[in-house]
Amino acid sequence: MNTYTARVLRHTMERWNSEYALVLDEAHASNLQRTRLLSPLAAALNGFFAVLFLWMALSASDDDPAYRWKFWQLLTHTGMGAALALCAWACRPLEHRHRSLAGRWLPVLAMAVCIVFAMLITAIDQWVTPAITPFFIACIVTSLTIYLRPHVAAALFGVAFVLFSTLIGMTQHNPEMLLSNRLNGLAVCVIGFCLSVLMWRKFTTIAVQKHQLEKAHTELQLKQRELERLTRQDGLTGLFNRNTFVELSTNELKRAKRQGSATTILLLDLDHFKRINDTWGHPAGDAVLRHVAQTMVNSVRSTDLVGRLGGEEFIVLLPHTTAEASRKIAEKIRQRLEVSDIRWEDKRIAVTASIGLAGTTAEESREFDSLYTEADKALYLAKQRGRNRVI
Ligand code: GH3
Ligand code: MG
Ligand code: MG
Repeated sequence: MNTYTARVLRHTMERWNSEYALVLDEAHASNLQRTRLLSPLAAALNGFFAVLFLWMALSASDDDPAYRWKFWQLLTHTGMGAALALCAWACRPLEHRHRSLAGRWLPVLAMAVCIVFAMLITAIDQWVTPAITPFFIACIVTSLTIYLRPHVAAALFGVAFVLFSTLIGMTQHNPEMLLSNRLNGLAVCVIGFCLSVLMWRKFTTIAVQKHQLEKAHTELQLKQRELERLTRQDGLTGLFNRNTFVELSTNELKRAKRQGSATTILLLDLDHFKRINDTWGHPAGDAVLRHVAQTMVNSVRSTDLVGRLGGEEFIVLLPHTTAEASRKIAEKIRQRLEVSDIRWEDKRIAVTASIGLAGTTAEESREFDSLYTEADKALYLAKQRGRNRVI
């Protein structure tokens, strides 16, 4: 074997090994489920054959040359049916325990039971026919039904061939027929092994693709949620952005109209914020904006809406709150900002804000735009009258 082939082989084996870990669990679950479904069926079929051979044995005459065949077939089918019924019974308590030792190996045991009994039946058949059909059916059907890792399949079919050769040698005494059946048995075991490997690879490929798809789907969902969040929130402060705030406020005002309750909005603009940027730089300005946002959120109820309209302009909607009560909240925010200790390069950045306030009473209802315009006018007045105040 040249080095290139050896490298490809090693690489393939490494890849297969890494995939085992991903899919083994699902393979065990599938094997156990199939064994639970199929072993009672196979047991019933053997029961039927046993009854058939019992009837044939009972109705056979004393000098029937096939009596020995009928009798041993009756015993073998009875044994196979009982062994498979036992497997089916053992499967029941393992329903969600495919990871346990029993859960992992019971399907392989059921498969081995089928193959061993099929070779016994085939060996007994040699008394009346040189065909090896039962052994052929058992090898093909089980290799298509139970997922086996390639090395387990190699061991199983290797042992099966040795046993088959030995057993058939006991009952088939014609040397040509014996050789022919042994060669056919070898072919059946090789085909069973190849089918088993093919089935395993197909299962692995599909399972790995399924895992990748699930992973991609989860990542996509996370990204979609993040995207939704970004379209609703302001990236710098995490507050609602303008569009979301307007949408939520419009709904809130409709509800206030239905319930006949007072609603207020506060429009807050930082004073001389440009100077902060010019003196300390934009990153410092951003830190101030985040601090202001946090102060506002901490100063109101969780049911109040806080948003950033853009730049250094913020807005709050206070449902079920009169203008008088809102004024106190606005004053609280203004004072907290005035005394806040924002540190940048070990120095304190002082910040103040002007706040314009506008509200509806319980009796009147107003649209968001009209409230906003009025709050903006109040904010303008606050700026005109010397800033750092609530109007
Ligand atoms: P006034 O008291 O009249 O409101 O004065 P002002 O300086 O606060 O107002 P002006 O509108 O002149 O300046 C607002 C500044 O806000 C200008 C802009 O550079 C700054 N700004 C806007 N958005 C951001 C931002 O996201 N980060 C930072 N650091 N600065 C911003
Ligand atoms: Mg401004
Ligand atoms: Mg400003």
